[in-house]
Amino acid sequence: MLNLNFHPAGRHFLQIPGPSPVPDRLLRAMSYPTIDHRGPEFGALGRLVLAGIKRIFKTQHPVVIYPASGTGAWEAALSNTLSPGDQVLMYETGHFATLWNKMALRLGLKPEFLRYPGADPHLPEAPGWRHGVQASLIEERLRRDARHAIKAVCVVHNETSTGVTSDIAAVRRAIDAAGHPALLLVDTISGLASADYRHDEWGVDVTVSGSQKGLMLPPGISFNAVSPKAIAASRTATLPKSFWAWDEIIDMNQTGYWPYTPNTNLLYALAESIEMIEAEGLEQVFARHQRLAAACRAAVQAWGLEIQCADPAVYSPVLTGVLLPQGVDADKVRQVVYQSFNMSLGAGLGKVKGRMFRIGHLGECNDLALVAALGGCEMGLKLAGVRVRESGTLAALEYLGSTATRQDRAS
Ligand SMILES: *Cc1c(COP(=O)(O)O)cnc(C)c1O
Repeated sequence: MLNLNFHPAGRHFLQIPGPSPVPDRLLRAMSYPTIDHRGPEFGALGRLVLAGIKRIFKTQHPVVIYPASGTGAWEAALSNTLSPGDQVLMYETGHFATLWNKMALRLGLKPEFLRYPGADPHLPEAPGWRHGVQASLIEERLRRDARHAIKAVCVVHNETSTGVTSDIAAVRRAIDAAGHPALLLVDTISGLASADYRHDEWGVDVTVSGSQKGLMLPPGISFNAVSPKAIAASRTATLPKSFWAWDEIIDMNQTGYWPYTPNTNLLYALAESIEMIEAEGLEQVFARHQRLAAACRAAVQAWGLEIQCADPAVYSPVLTGVLLPQGVDADKVRQVVYQSFNMSLGAGLGKVKGRMFRIGHLGECNDLALVAALGGCEMGLKLAGVRVRESGTLAALEYLGSTATRQDRAS
């Protein structure tokens, strides 16, 4: 039985890359009374969050909000735009790209899975899982598709299983350079509101995201940002869709309502989250994530361990994957950290299970939270018998201290 009376002193350190810690402000917003979802107050809330979330995606076009986890929004993106047997080009950046590929197969699509060529000596079991999407491979494949059988290109922006953030603008340029009409579908479930993202400017047709990562909400709502081209495709696409169908939702959203009961209390939290993000400034939020990520990498390098992302151009600002030496069980390290220091780290998923752990530094993470998390990792590594070269915690302190800026707080 789950013992809900077990409360160690202090807060649990939830350093997984989603769900990220939910700020008290959002928890309080969620505690407002649930209201009539057909009543006048609800319409105002609906319009507020629907307008606000567009600014976060940087789009002028509709964003559909589902009462579902990110996986639901993945299915929505595919089932609204594609037809049975359609060829889609997907890219294996890691475990989440692999799950989306599996879903495409189950839905009756014909996905082709590209990946970075060549293995890595530190991670032979998972070729391609240390790199981002190579846009040139996509361009080359689309050029060979003279009859335009490929209907969509699907890529993961921030691959949460590895800590690699791909260049989406480059993928758009590759599709355009090949003169190919395929739709561009992008998963930024863990990237939104943490890593720079521009739905309209980058020419993305469907962007998929979720609530429990950069937006700092609990799990439970997810998004499709949709371009006019994607909406046009949804009118002729024939994969079965009902709950996920955009048309009725977008229609009713005009007045701030949904065709079914939306997740009212999570929408309160979403309104609050957008307000918090915009008060800090979206660009400042991105800069904060970049700086924390740099401090985390300084720690990993000082420990003498490998950062999973092998290409500094695509280091993730959201999380850092830490590869452990061959023969060390990364899940043992996580277990020690959990049991001794009341902190959860992200596990290695799929092909990298037991080979690495992930440190989340997203959402409301700040300097001192990261320092504490790195301290817990460092003690855990030593307790688990992993030899570290020098103190990563000190390296992070040096970095954070030397790059700190003073905030003038209202007095
Ligand atoms: C978390 C995540 C998912 C899965 O979302 P769920 O909310 O767990 O369904 C998919 N893709 C990426 C990149 C993610 O980070």
